[in-house]
Amino acid sequence: MRTLETDYLVIGAGASGLAFVDTLLDESPDAHITLVDRRGLPGGHWNDSYPFVTLHQPSAFYGVNSMELGTGRKDTQGLNAGLLELASGPEICGYYQRFVRQRLAGHPRMDYRPLTRWHADEGVVENTLSGDRCRVAVRRKVVDAAYMSPSVPATHRRRFAVAKGAQVVAPNELPQPGGSHAPPACCVIGAGKTAMDALTWLLQVGVPPAALHWVVPRDSWLVNRITTQTGEEFFRDSIGGQARQMQAAAEAISVDDLFLRLEACGQLLRIHGDRLPTMFHLATLTPPEARWLAQVEQVIRLGHVRAVEPDGLVLEQGRVALPAGTLFIDCTASAVEPRAVQPIFQPGRLVLQLVRLPQPTFSAALVAYVEAHHGAAGDKACNALAGTVPFPYRLADYPRALLANLWNQLQWSQHPPLRQWIRASRLDGFGRLMSGIPEHDTARRDVVARLKALGPAAMTNLQRLAVQG
Ligand SMILES: Cc1cc2nc3c(=O)[nH]c(=O)nc-3n(C[C@H](O)[C@H](O)[C@H](O)COP(=O)(O)OP(=O)(O)OC[C@H]3O[C@@H](n4cnc5c(N)ncnc54)[C@H](O)[C@@H]3O)c2cc1C
Repeated sequence: MRTLETDYLVIGAGASGLAFVDTLLDESPDAHITLVDRRGLPGGHWNDSYPFVTLHQPSAFYGVNSMELGTGRKDTQGLNAGLLELASGPEICGYYQRFVRQRLAGHPRMDYRPLTRWHADEGVVENTLSGDRCRVAVRRKVVDAAYMSPSVPATHRRRFAVAKGAQVVAPNELPQPGGSHAPPACCVIGAGKTAMDALTWLLQVGVPPAALHWVVPRDSWLVNRITTQTGEEFFRDSIGGQARQMQAAAEAISVDDLFLRLEACGQLLRIHGDRLPTMFHLATLTPPEARWLAQVEQVIRLGHVRAVEPDGLVLEQGRVALPAGTLFIDCTASAVEPRAVQPIFQPGRLVLQLVRLPQPTFSAALVAYVEAHHGAAGDKACNALAGTVPFPYRLADYPRALLANLWNQLQWSQHPPLRQWIRASRLDGFGRLMSGIPEHDTARRDVVARLKALGPAAMTNLQRLAVQG
């Protein structure tokens, strides 16, 4: 068997792997990188996305550091009107294909191999079409850029039974012309962003709210998208919002109280104001989107679905009858399947995870920077500089996640070159906004000063809340 030599073997050409490779090429000018993906095209899960998917957060700070995504324009109509554009699935796939064409193809230190599967147990890569196998001699590190890979509707395994005659589709199938008869009702199963997208789309294409049913095992807190805008004109909502978030973190007396304070100060939203959510997976909406979804009044809250029947649903806490012939839309794939938190820097290995919530592409790029400039100091030093931020699978996990976020921010602030790299990075939405405030703008300077001053109290209180959880 042939042996292929490289400095870094990166597994996965999704959003994380590509952001990592892009930054490593710049920051580690002598490193040779081999990037493999079992898929034929770059972009990972975006290649399987449903047709009406978009980013949750602005295109302005998504993708790779070296290439803009989108035009930086604001939407002028629709439920995101007035806010920065959100790339669609096809736009993201096209962006990553262009990136591969313009930056990776022909690069003397880059070897991109699509349709190539990594067999970690054998240390071998295999072309999935030709079957050609190669041993890989990795001089520096194997980079697992697939550890946080999400589960998406097109590829996930259904966890409920489907009785004969029941019509169940993935959201990917929705825009196809249906059968000869319109279904009497549509029932969306799932409480995450995919379900919200499916309902929004169904309402937009004219399905009346009265014909919609929505299975919501858990209500969810949502990020208010206005707080994620990077333009100057949004300073009050973005940086001002971060200061209000810090104040809530410093003063909350319990985890529920923290979420209620974050809602009160405009950071978070919920769709049904009379329900106290028990989930927060960082799904992001605008207030008009939340109001739009509140039109769906037939909400089924009887736990998870066990079985779908042609005229009803069997759920954990009972059966619900629905019109015979209802079209069920399976939105139960969890984009954030629980994964054990592990150190990012390990002997001979990097396991890409978040170093800032909820920004996987910024995180991957920052890990590449730390590897390039601090790798020689050893794994312990690198993990201290880029600690894993645990994803808050449960509400009670959120204080710990915020704490890890703040801890990393504090470390970065003490390394001027790293701080400078972050400021210049297009993947860091807000650094430039904070550093570019003119001397005379005392109002904005006060907001930044308040944000910084609240940090120690927030960290102390979050530690207390994390222990409570
Ligand atoms: C609907 C949706 C909207 C989102 N919106 C945003 C947003 O607005 N902003 C934001 O920051 N993030 C957003 N995210 C999250 C983010 O974009 C990505 O989901 C996240 O970064 C995961 O990407 P990934 O590269 O880690 O995983 P993937 O995209 O799954 O890529 C992993 C790749 O690894 C490959 N692979 C796995 N194992 C092997 C192997 N053994 N050999 C070879 N190849 C292998 C797979 O084929 C895959 O292509 C969103 C996610 C979803 C699902």
